[in-house]
Amino acid sequence: MSKTYLLLGADIGDKRTTFAKAKQLIGESVGRIIRESSLYESAAWGFKNDTTFLNQVLEVETSLSPLDLLDGLQKIENELGRTRSGNGYESRLIDIDILFYDDLVTNTSELTVPHPHLHKRMFTLAPLSELALNYIHPVLHKSVSRLKAECTDRGVVRKING
Ligand code: ADP
Ligand code: MG
Repeated sequence: MSKTYLLLGADIGDKRTTFAKAKQLIGESVGRIIRESSLYESAAWGFKNDTTFLNQVLEVETSLSPLDLLDGLQKIENELGRTRSGNGYESRLIDIDILFYDDLVTNTSELTVPHPHLHKRMFTLAPLSELALNYIHPVLHKSVSRLKAECTDRGVVRKING
């Protein structure tokens, strides 16, 4: 069994319902969800629209290999997140990223773990620190707590109830 931390993200649609469905599918096909962080809301930067992002981190126990895990998560994203119209427009309602997988360090075209932006984004570090404050980043060799303290992301991230 391996322990992995997953980041859920959504910016359009009924985000909470999508998260609930994603967690159900993760439990069915990826592994057991051991703990989940609070939900966090943040302003979408880099976009012209005024939507807000919803994020949550899950601690999951899985017997899948890293690539099978990625594959399983992408299937869930596809099942939940893609709407297709006649002109080929696709809108993704859910993003599921692998933050950590045990102490694995890998960097291939398909999969980079730890997630390359994990330490740069407060919307990742805030929920992750609820579950893995003392986890040592296997590349940066710093705890999640320290990465959060040193993070210069000034985007507003708000913890929300329920
Ligand atoms: P993003 O997460 O950057 O918004 P996507 O979800 O479309 O974009 O992911 C693009 C690709 O990133 C995926 O096809 C996957 O192969 C790759 N990828 C690399 N590392 C990871 C990771 N740690 N977690 C999830 N996807 C990853
Ligand atoms: Mg992704």
